Amino acid sequence: MIELGLAEVADAVGGTLTGPDAQVTGKVTVDSRTAGPGDLYVALPGERVDGNDFIGAAVASGAAGALGTRPADGHPVVVVEDPVAALGRLAHAVHERLPGLTTVGITGSSGKTSTKDLLGQVLAAAGPTVSPPGSFNNDIGLPLTVLSADTGTRYLVLEMGARGIGHIARLCGVARPDVGVVLNVGSAHLGEFGSPEAIATAKGELAEAATGTAVLNADDPRVRAMASRTAARVLLTGTAEDADVRAADVALDADARASFTLHAAGEAHPVRLQVVGAHQVANALSAAGAALAAGLAPAQVAAGLSAATVQSRWRMEVTRRPDGVVVVNDAYNANPESMRAALAALQGMTGTRRVAVLGAMGELGPGADDEHHRLGVDAAAAVDLVVAVGRDAAGIAAAREESVHVPDRAAARQLLAEVLRPGDVVLVKASRAQGLELLAADLLEDG
Ligand code: ATP
Ligand code: MG
Repeated sequence: MIELGLAEVADAVGGTLTGPDAQVTGKVTVDSRTAGPGDLYVALPGERVDGNDFIGAAVASGAAGALGTRPADGHPVVVVEDPVAALGRLAHAVHERLPGLTTVGITGSSGKTSTKDLLGQVLAAAGPTVSPPGSFNNDIGLPLTVLSADTGTRYLVLEMGARGIGHIARLCGVARPDVGVVLNVGSAHLGEFGSPEAIATAKGELAEAATGTAVLNADDPRVRAMASRTAARVLLTGTAEDADVRAADVALDADARASFTLHAAGEAHPVRLQVVGAHQVANALSAAGAALAAGLAPAQVAAGLSAATVQSRWRMEVTRRPDGVVVVNDAYNANPESMRAALAALQGMTGTRRVAVLGAMGELGPGADDEHHRLGVDAAAAVDLVVAVGRDAAGIAAAREESVHVPDRAAARQLLAEVLRPGDVVLVKASRAQGLELLAADLLEDG
């Protein structure tokens, strides 16, 4: 972060400094255990523990002070009513002090982290870039990301998640993006939103907030339609003929890695992705649109995309076991669209047999049973064997007689130890709550 005094922090967040003033010279953290010299510790009210109880410990570790809801034994504390809102206000104040920065916001139902990781690597070749690992896309993660930028930062890449109308607008209020990227409108969190139209309304807030360029996926009609909601310049991406940033001649290799010709700004450059799955083409085009909007040249963008690798864990991580079984760990998360994207990637991979080990998809609302059933039908048609893991995934296996349902991870591991043969390719995927990355790890151990 840029250096700030606690009195300045209090001013920025509308809080009151209790205890002595001190200079924040380090990072901002919400975990007292990671607090170090010069850091600002933000004490969040947790469900089980109260962050305020650890202010003393953070200061003992060298923290300059804390942001909390009450004074703490004379330690330097900026007292506020709502520490999460204060974190957002602090990030906003710091962002305003970084005028040389190009800020990119990314939203969509699927592929935010994948696109952020591609873009982060493309931009990093052009200048100092802040693009956090993982999925820091909410009211806590996004401000923390902003606060990790400093005066040397040239590009800031922010993932923006929405669980309701107004969420993206609020995140854009923390750090107004120069470039707003909307990937797709799918059915992730459909349960909370009620309808795809409501999801489109929520995601479109990013197009509305973008000050310079809105990068919109022309292949998704709901995203394309957001062009009418923004005053920013619109850059369409996709395979559509009229896309400004377009992929042509898309081909997949035996490991389902895509290559294509990138057409942009009147130029054409070959791209060969390292990341797996045809769905990464759309993500790569969105990243390309954002990088071009940030001022990079098409050749630089094509080279950057071709060099980019998977940065965040459990997304199409392909590992070959010593015995020749290939495990594809895509267990980070799942919704109907990402399940189908992963199945399509599996289908495209060279192997003797393709096995899909799938767990439940969460947060789908009342249509959940139908969605699991439909996925079961499509999965059985796409691969040689479907194994559904866990109680909530039973519907996936019920769709086809040949598919198998097992109650838990242990049972899945046992079954797969019996059926897997060298040359088989196994995809492991489910919603976050299912924790199937542990099964993927078990499978790697069993090889
Ligand atoms: P979250 O909302 O959980 O943060 P996200 O939008 O950041 O998710 P990623 O983590 O990039 O998405 O990808 C999640 C899963 O979605 C991946 O494992 C992949 O299977 C799938 N996926 C990625 N990109 C796309 C895409 N463009 N279309 C469909 N599915 C995709
Ligand atoms: Mg994410």
